[in-house]
Amino acid sequence: MKAVRFHQHGGPEVLSYEDAPDPVLAPGEVLVRVRACALNHLDVWARMGLRNVSIPMPHIAGSDVSGDVVASAAADVEIGRRVMLQPGVSCGRCLECLSGRDNECARFQVLGYVNHAGGYAEFVKVPVQNLIFIPDAIDYVQAAAFPLTFQTAWHMLVTRAQLKRGEDVLVLAAGSGVGQAAIQIARFMGARVFATAGSADKLARARAMGASEVIDHHRDDIADEIKRLTNRRGVDVVIEHVGEATWAGSMRSLARGGRLVTCGATTGANGAINLSALFSKRLSILGSYMGTKGELIQASRLFFAGLLAPVIDRTYALGDAAEAHRRMEASGQFGKIVLEVP
Ligand SMILES: [Zn+2]
Repeated sequence: MKAVRFHQHGGPEVLSYEDAPDPVLAPGEVLVRVRACALNHLDVWARMGLRNVSIPMPHIAGSDVSGDVVASAAADVEIGRRVMLQPGVSCGRCLECLSGRDNECARFQVLGYVNHAGGYAEFVKVPVQNLIFIPDAIDYVQAAAFPLTFQTAWHMLVTRAQLKRGEDVLVLAAGSGVGQAAIQIARFMGARVFATAGSADKLARARAMGASEVIDHHRDDIADEIKRLTNRRGVDVVIEHVGEATWAGSMRSLARGGRLVTCGATTGANGAINLSALFSKRLSILGSYMGTKGELIQASRLFFAGLLAPVIDRTYALGDAAEAHRRMEASGQFGKIVLEVP
């Protein structure tokens, strides 16, 4: 098959469109002909390499996949079904998996990261339980753009932060994958949303998606603006994934009883905590990583009903994956960047 692989860590130039062996199915697995694969920041981390993370080479990245089932080593799977894939792969047998917390499975892995070949290819294999069938009205690009970010944002807002109707939520980086998903889910749940972005165009788009107030994070201090816009109260929930660059402002934006949920640290992993504020304001700091398949199925029902819709920034052909990575690293995008597999 054709695939985009890298043989060493480095910049976008290490992504090579080349021939690769076809996946070989083990019992319980299915083969999917990839039609679209959305980018995530995880793909960039995998390509660049992280300390303490060992990725076998050559590697195929890509966690967000849609396509058609073309072969199966599992029972009861109809060949030809249109699917998107649950990006988290877990054992399916341990306490965590059987308690519906499959993202806490000791063997949890992300498709396209570390030991699982991903969707930057013509074919990918996954355990049968990772299939989610998609209706005809949903196209492959939309389907590929949905799973990882909406599952992540759902886990952050619904499960971790326990967001309630009428609460105030601050969403950082509205144009990012998690940002656009969090704005939509928070609005669906009846929250008021404050969103940040780095350009007038992105701020307008955040408003169009349902943000009540928008903050230019290059021009204004986020916490000062939140204090001004909420009559000094602050927000109930902060959706954080930027890291070092925004951490202090995110902490200062919280109201009494506020919850900060973080799923990433794109700009760096160090953040200070004011312990006096932590206890006196009864704040909670919550870590979040991916989400469960149950949460993805719940979110998917709203997606299929037209109540949630991933925003597509632009598409590239699979062979242009390096260009797509450059766009992601330049932070110019609003929504998901998607590779199409002809
Ligand atoms: Zn498990």
